Amino acid sequence: MNAEIICVGTEIILGDILNTHSQFLSQELAALGINVYYQTAVGDNDKRFSEILKNALDRSDLIFLTGGLGPTTDDITKEVACKLLEIPCHYHQPTAEKIKCYFARSGREITQNNLKQAMIPENAYILENNWGTAPGLILQKQQKTLVLLPGPPRELRPMFEYGVKPYFQSQLAQPIVSKNVRVFGIGESLLETKIEDLVRCVNPTVALYAKDGEVLIRVTAKAENSQKAEKIIDQMINKLSERLDTHIYGIDVDSLQQVVVRTLTEQNKTIATAESCTGGLLASKITQVPGSSNVFGMGLITYANQAKQQQLGVLETTLDTVGAVSEQTAIEMAQGLYQKSQADFCVSITGIAGPTGGSEEKPVGTVYIAVAHQQKIWCKQFHFARNQNERDYIRDLSCLNALNMVRLTLQCQDTFEKNYQ
Ligand code: ATP
Ligand code: MG
Repeated sequence: MNAEIICVGTEIILGDILNTHSQFLSQELAALGINVYYQTAVGDNDKRFSEILKNALDRSDLIFLTGGLGPTTDDITKEVACKLLEIPCHYHQPTAEKIKCYFARSGREITQNNLKQAMIPENAYILENNWGTAPGLILQKQQKTLVLLPGPPRELRPMFEYGVKPYFQSQLAQPIVSKNVRVFGIGESLLETKIEDLVRCVNPTVALYAKDGEVLIRVTAKAENSQKAEKIIDQMINKLSERLDTHIYGIDVDSLQQVVVRTLTEQNKTIATAESCTGGLLASKITQVPGSSNVFGMGLITYANQAKQQQLGVLETTLDTVGAVSEQTAIEMAQGLYQKSQADFCVSITGIAGPTGGSEEKPVGTVYIAVAHQQKIWCKQFHFARNQNERDYIRDLSCLNALNMVRLTLQCQDTFEKNYQ
């Protein structure tokens, strides 16, 4: 089955928004074993959209259309698709009721044009929208399948997960199951050389997706039932674990911070943060995780030297001699934080995020991270800069590495003996 994706929206063409639907849908469809051969973006223009859709109908079996399902006149996706496929639309009472309830719940007045969304193409499969008003639609005509999805990501993504995915999974002769292995602290190319032979495997397939600082490995298997597919996947995950060891931080988890918060909770431990160059980003990442209040009590942002001295007791002589961006300052920050918070893990970050402030001795991207734990301390120096002006990258990687140091201490037995002094 050959698929293609057409994203409708003038904002995409103007560059006002990033077309994240193309990426999301391509990744999700690959995991379902559906090949995507084309991605297109087009503005809310009747003529140009019709041309693109005609083209797509000539060359693809399955076409995903995103955006333009809203109530206003510039929302044209359903109307153009139905005109082209010659499918009539009818007022659909249950959908209208759902839309009315949605408005009643959010205390807003419904307008007549909202009921345009209750016009449903004949014989369409309706994908419920519990996060907005426009239902998604699956249309079928002459061996072609069109899937119409709403534009807002917070509506499209759950609709895909709970509506589209089960729909296609039930149509596939063999179930396809995937698991995501999350890897941190090893570059994509080194990783690839370590698992080169496994990446060539056909069932399961092993696909790498690199992000800043980490790699996601998606293992996907086909089998006559999902238990068998899972078994195939788990065997592959065992092989990956042998090769990648402690670089694997979780399977089917959302993020490093989720793993850290979850493990701290399981082990009944607490964490506190003292940040300089990351300005609270680490605390923000930790508190993104629901339930983090069980483990996180306080985070300090000590940006100025004076704050480091007053809040954390960093010594003036340390700042005068080795400077704020140094191993000694990171250590004193973590120790001072321990005096204040008594948390089981006290994490400090100090570094140069740039673009200015670097020197030959300490270039932009130099970061020290310290973790105080059980009266001992582990401090590590990092150099994160790739190019110039990568402030966000440096700040983000600082936080991820800080989380990873805590994660390693929690998950891997000899980390403490090996690294803490
Ligand atoms: P609405 O009912 O909100 O009008 P809609 O289905 O008509 O929804 P659009 O009007 O096309 O969808 O887009 C609504 C919003 O969804 C956009 O302003 C944008 O924020 C987001 N969006 C649309 N398309 C994409 C895309 N391809 N990638 C990421 N975000 C998108
Ligand atoms: Mg719209």
